[in-house]
Amino acid sequence: MKIIDGKGLANQLKDELRLETDKLAKLGKRRPHLAAVLVGNNPASESYVRNKVRSCQQAGFESTLIRRPDDVAEAELLTVIEQLNSNNDIDGFIVQLPLPKHIDEQKVLLAINPDKDVDGFHPMNFGKMAQGMDAFLPATPYGILLMLEHYGIETSGKEVVVIGRSNIVGTPMSILLSRKAKLGNATVTLVHSRTKNLKIHTQNADIIIAAIGIPKFLTTNMVKDGATIIDVGINRVEDATRKSGYRLVGDVDYDGLAPKVEFMTPVPGGVGPMTVLGLMKNTMKAYLNN
Ligand code: NAD
Repeated sequence: MKIIDGKGLANQLKDELRLETDKLAKLGKRRPHLAAVLVGNNPASESYVRNKVRSCQQAGFESTLIRRPDDVAEAELLTVIEQLNSNNDIDGFIVQLPLPKHIDEQKVLLAINPDKDVDGFHPMNFGKMAQGMDAFLPATPYGILLMLEHYGIETSGKEVVVIGRSNIVGTPMSILLSRKAKLGNATVTLVHSRTKNLKIHTQNADIIIAAIGIPKFLTTNMVKDGATIIDVGINRVEDATRKSGYRLVGDVDYDGLAPKVEFMTPVPGGVGPMTVLGLMKNTMKAYLNN
C-alpha cells in the first residue's frame, strides 16, 4: 500500500505559494490576506483555525482572526461579514463552522460576497462549480483533487463511491469527479445514511471517498483489492495513553485495509492538511482577481 502523504504534499505546495508571495513582496506589492471568523471556543474549531493561521504564515500570506463569543447576536455577525466584504485589504475570508444553534448558518453563508468566499460554500460558487464554470472550489474536495493529481491516480472511466452527502464534502466531491473535466470523468455513486446495502456499491469501487463521521465505518470486507481510499473523517476517540485524553481517527479501518488497497490517506496527515491547502490556493486566486 502506498500512503498518500497529504501533510507532505500540502507543505510542498505551501512552499511553492511562499515563493510566489515573496516574489510579490519583493516587487513592492502587498501579500494575499485571509481572514477567519471564529465564534465561541469549540476545541475542534479552535484547532482548525489555528492550522489555517499557521498555514498562512508558511505560505507568506497575511491573516486576521476575528473572534466573537458563543452568544454573539446574529445581526452582529452579519455586520462583521459586511465589513469583511467591503474591506479591500482582505482578499478572502471564512466563517468557521459549526455556528451556535441560535445563528442561521445558511443566512450567514449567503451574506458572504461570493468573490471572497474562499471556502467555496456560497451557492453562487457551488452552482458555477456544478456547471464547470470558473469558481472557488470547496476546500476539501479541491484538496482531494490535488492529491489524486499529484499521485497520478486516474479518475477517468473509474468507478468512484462517495460516502456522505454533505454540502461541503460529499455532494461537491461527487459533482467534481463526474464532471467532463480533467480529474473528472468518473462514474460516481453517492451513498448515504438511507442507502440500502451500501457494501454492494463500495465493493465495486476503484476509488472510495469516505466523509461520514463514524470511526472505522469502512471495513476490509467492503472494499475490493487494489482500491484507492480517501478518508475525510476526523473523529475524536478516547485514548488514555495520550496527554490530551483522545486521538484522531478517520472513517476507515486503516490497519485492516492497509494490506488490501493500493493507495490510502492517513488520519491525521491526509485530507486535513490538503483542505487547508485548498483554502490557501483559493485565497491566492481571490488575491489575483482582486
Ligand atoms: P456531515 O457530518 O454533515 O454528514 C455526514 C454524512 O454521512 C451525511 O451525508 C450522512 O448521509 C452520511 N452518513 C451518516 N451515517 C451514515 C451511514 N450509517 N451510512 C452511510 N452514510 C452515512 O458530513 P461532513 O461535514 O462531510 O463530515 C464528515 C466527516 O468528515 C466528519 O468526520 C468531519 O469531521 C470530517 N471532515 C473533515 C474535513 C477535513 O478537512 N479532513 C473537512 C470536512 C469534514
